[in-house]
Amino acid sequence: MGYDEFITLYVYILSGILGLCVGSFLNVVIYRVPNGMNLAKPDSHCTTCDYTLKWYDNIPVLSYLMLGGKCRKCGEKISPRYMIVEILNAVLWLLSVLIFWEQSPVYAVICAIALSTLVCIFFIDLEHLLIFNRFVIIIFVAGIVSLFFDGYIEWYDHLIGAVAFGGGFALIYYGAILILKREGLGFGDVKLALAAGFLLGWQKMLLAMLIASVSASVILVILRRVRNDEEGHEYPFGPFLSVGIGVAMLVGEPIINWYLSLLGM
Ligand SMILES: [Zn+2]
Repeated sequence: MGYDEFITLYVYILSGILGLCVGSFLNVVIYRVPNGMNLAKPDSHCTTCDYTLKWYDNIPVLSYLMLGGKCRKCGEKISPRYMIVEILNAVLWLLSVLIFWEQSPVYAVICAIALSTLVCIFFIDLEHLLIFNRFVIIIFVAGIVSLFFDGYIEWYDHLIGAVAFGGGFALIYYGAILILKREGLGFGDVKLALAAGFLLGWQKMLLAMLIASVSASVILVILRRVRNDEEGHEYPFGPFLSVGIGVAMLVGEPIINWYLSLLGM
C-alpha cells in the first residue's frame, strides 16, 4: 500500500468513527431540542430512573448492544432509534467522504454537516411535527459555503433554487390557507425548501422534490389505509423532504447526468 492509499484509507476510517460519535451527539439534539433542554448539561441519563450514564454506557452502538437495549439500572427498554441514528450518521459521513473527498474535501465536510442536520430534522419533525429554525439556518450557511466549493453548478443556480423552491412552497402554503382554510404544509417546510434550494441549486432540488413528493404520496396512502386515519389527520412532510434532499445531495449529479444523456443532451 502506497502513501496516498494509506491516507485515503485513514480518512475513510476516521470519517466512519467520527460519524458514529457525532451520531451519538445527534441523539442528544433530537431528544433535547424539542423539549427545550440544554445540550451540554446535564450528562445523559435514563429517562425513566434518572441513572446517569457512565462513559462505558455511552459508546456508540457497542453500549446499546452490550446492554441489550436496556437501562443498566432499571432495565427499561431504550429506543432502538439511538443506535439507528448513530449507524445512519456514520454511513452518511462515510458516503460524503467516499463521493466528494477527492473532488473537494471542504465540500465533503459541508455535505456531512448538512446530512447530519437533515437527520435531526427527519426525526424531530416525524415525532413533533416541527422544523426548528436553527437547523434550517445550518443548511442555509452550508449553502453559502458551498457556493465556493461545489464546482458543479454556477452561483446563480443556487440563487434560482432558493427563489424557485422557497417561493413555490410559500405559494402552496398561503394558497392552502386562502382556499382550503388550513395549512397544507408547515411554514418550516417553506423555510427548509428555501435553504435546501440554495444549498443544492435548482437542478438537484428538483430531483429532491421529486423523491420527496413521490415517496410521500406512496407512503401516506399506505399509512392512511393501514391505520384507518380520520379525515384531516396530519403527517409531516419534513421527513420526506429531508430524505429527498439527502439523496439528491449525495447522488444527484450522476442521476441528473444519466437523465440528460437519455435525452441526448
Ligand atoms: Zn433506567
